[in-house]
Amino acid sequence: MNLARQIEQYLPQPLLALVKDISGQAAKQRERVYLVGGVVRDLLLGYPNFDLDLVVEGDAVRLAQRVAETGQARLLAHHRFGTAKLRYENFILDLATARKETYARPGALPAVTPGTLKDDLIRRDFSINAMAISLAPNDYGELIDTHQGRTDLEHRLIRILHPGSFTDDATRILRAVCYEQRFGFKFETQTARLLKRGIPMLDTISGDRIRHELEHIFEEKRPELVIKRLGDLGALHRIHSSLAGDGWIAEKFDKARRHKKPAQLPPLYFCFLVYSFSENELGQFLTRLNLPAKLSRIMRDTLHLKTSLRLLDRPSLKHSEIHCLLREYQPLAIQANAMATESPTARRSLQLFLTKLRYVRTSLDGEELKKLGISAGPEMGKVLERLHKAKLDGEVRTRADEKKLALSLSPKL
Ligand code: ATP
Repeated sequence: MNLARQIEQYLPQPLLALVKDISGQAAKQRERVYLVGGVVRDLLLGYPNFDLDLVVEGDAVRLAQRVAETGQARLLAHHRFGTAKLRYENFILDLATARKETYARPGALPAVTPGTLKDDLIRRDFSINAMAISLAPNDYGELIDTHQGRTDLEHRLIRILHPGSFTDDATRILRAVCYEQRFGFKFETQTARLLKRGIPMLDTISGDRIRHELEHIFEEKRPELVIKRLGDLGALHRIHSSLAGDGWIAEKFDKARRHKKPAQLPPLYFCFLVYSFSENELGQFLTRLNLPAKLSRIMRDTLHLKTSLRLLDRPSLKHSEIHCLLREYQPLAIQANAMATESPTARRSLQLFLTKLRYVRTSLDGEELKKLGISAGPEMGKVLERLHKAKLDGEVRTRADEKKLALSLSPKL
């Protein structure tokens, strides 16, 4: 099957010109370049996807170096992995040397050696991701589909390429569910059986790799569908015994998406995932996934604040009291609780802090207090704190009000 016409219609012209140039340069060295993976699948499905992965039968890094020298691309090369990234003004292209993989033991990262396109395709997760399109001038547009990917796309099936696939790499269980939910596909019968049987193999996967796949899931349009399905299959439970993909999580994920910017979503999703955890369970989860310090802090704060929410459930709280209760918490932890709490009063206080109170500053600073004769040190600290409180509670409004209060507070004056 030749897809030359489809490629020309599918890719934006400037991107098309780039890949043709790369393929032309490769051909001069008798190397061949292919489009592979998600873009081929999405082109056949008619979904837009301009994250191009190119596989080179030859030396991808050397090819990328030559391209970068002659074009306007910035090059990021990983010699050890035989991969390179070309960053253009509007596009990024990933080039990889065709490779062969062997797994020394389940869950381990594979040993990699250079190989042919066929070797590169058979190491992939599912048939729908194991197709390539030749960009070589002599058979430009030819579909290479050695694993019935196109038939599986037509039948809307997720199929592994060999029976040991989930044992070799159990992250494919998470990936399979991701594609199943994204496209509304079904697991092919043997794949479904082996996936269920392979769930205990998630124990063999490092925290970093599980985290990476969760982050991948959190980029989905509706990650709650994937989380729910992983919960039903028992895969979440295998990652941590208290993880569940229940309706509460689905509702909160959806709420977060309606209100928050995309960059804030993954940390919020992580917080909702563990919202029912005890501190101890959270500690185990953070260790299991080797989560980065900043995100760990947000998640810890979320659970800690959850246990203090009853203190915010009083309509009579002064603004300075709300500020005092919340100022040590990470804003995203406060946000997670504002979305999670059932109490409208607590939610109002949390939102008030996020939108207003945390930005309140006194007009006078240390320098100006010095000019008023207040000496630096604990005394000044107390005056500033009192001014801040007064400003939060609306007791002072103008600079003059603040000056008056500062002078009245300083016993020396
Ligand atoms: P999409 O989620 O749309 O497929 P993507 O291109 O970002 O987007 P990646 O996770 O980057 O997906 O994977 C790129 C390709 O690498 C996949 O199409 C698949 O062929 C292959 N791949 C990724 N992870 C694995 C894995 N664990 N085992 C085998 N092949 C994999």
